[in-house]
Amino acid sequence: MNIHEYQAKALLKKYGAPVSRGVPVLKVEDAEAAAKELGGPLWVVKSQIHAGGRGKGKFKEPEAGDKGGVRLAKSIDEVKTFVSQMLGNTLVTIQTGPAGKQVNRLYLEDGSDIEKEFYISLLVDRATSHVAFVVSTEGGMDIEEVAHSHPEKIVTFSVDPVTGVQGFHGRKIAKALGLTGDLAKQAGKLAEVLYTAFVDTDMAMLEINPLIITKDAQLRVLDAKVTFDSNAMFRHPELAELRDLTEEDAKEIEASKYDLAYIALDGTIGCMVNGAGLAMATLDIIQLYGESPANFLDVGGGANEEKVTAAFKIITADPNVKGILVNIFGGIMQCDVIARGVLAAVKAVGLEVPLVVRLEGTNVEEGKKIIRESGLNVIPADDLDDAAQKIVAAVKKEAA
Ligand code: ADP
Ligand code: MG
Repeated sequence: MNIHEYQAKALLKKYGAPVSRGVPVLKVEDAEAAAKELGGPLWVVKSQIHAGGRGKGKFKEPEAGDKGGVRLAKSIDEVKTFVSQMLGNTLVTIQTGPAGKQVNRLYLEDGSDIEKEFYISLLVDRATSHVAFVVSTEGGMDIEEVAHSHPEKIVTFSVDPVTGVQGFHGRKIAKALGLTGDLAKQAGKLAEVLYTAFVDTDMAMLEINPLIITKDAQLRVLDAKVTFDSNAMFRHPELAELRDLTEEDAKEIEASKYDLAYIALDGTIGCMVNGAGLAMATLDIIQLYGESPANFLDVGGGANEEKVTAAFKIITADPNVKGILVNIFGGIMQCDVIARGVLAAVKAVGLEVPLVVRLEGTNVEEGKKIIRESGLNVIPADDLDDAAQKIVAAVKKEAA
């Protein structure tokens, strides 16, 4: 689960991180009061969307101008102009894809006098099973790009969960960033604060890009991106409330109601599979035979008829879906349950695209029988290879 920058900063502030003062702005009418509250003389108007690269992004509508999704304003009037240009418009950044994202919230923040920009992030390192810090002097840039062209400028280390953050971790950060004296001390404190917030709230990722030194020698968190571990959200009802559904794909929201692992993709073949590994293999093999998957969907091991029906409805409701591939290996999952779910869903929503069903495992004969006797126009398949070729061929035939 992702949250907005302003929410992440409010959270980090509670843990004692140095963040600027700021006010969320959701309506044009609130801009003036927010600007007066902060007082200036420099304000930053920041688009709140769940995507990075906002500063270098461009609004689709020309009246919003080309000044990007993060703007410096030098007067209250300028704040008001920017707010009215940005709010409600669609921002396209390197991370949003060409469709962009509508900006429904802004964050008005005190402008900082920036001396230097750094990069610091925390994430769960699967190799060590520890929380790892990633630190670089190359702040404000795309870190993937830095990792590619200047890997030596990235320092990483992980923290032993038994000891937590120690003084030497802070010194590692200070050394990586070339900080001495009081700034090195601030880096030590920051390491502790970030680590505590990360562990306390079950984050999966915390990225600060940039972390800055101000002209008066203070470290400050200038941007913050937080992703929580969705599986831990039941422990944090107060954080779950920060979820902004307008940022999420409608199909993914629907799927999450049924506890389905669903991710929307941009291809044409809707997939219903059980098990993440089989689902990944299914995506690969569709690609191998020349089409692209419209989604990743793992209905899970213990899916019941209701869940399967919901999954099928979500797939058929996607206008990009030109064919459906049901690929089930019945281990815990039973093939007849899948078959009944598919039938129930087809009865409810109809079936306008080719459907290939490959069933294997527990109760497979019964499952196949249910489908055979349903009178549905289903193309049966015997294995994964066969299934993928059949659905690709069927979709290509429809398109021709
Ligand atoms: P994004 O990463 O989405 O582009 P950032 O929050 O990192 O958004 O902002 C982009 C750039 O804008 C920063 O690298 C920084 O140079 C500048 N910036 C952001 N917030 C402030 C601020 N409060 N004061 C001064 N400059 C800022
Ligand atoms: Mg940034």
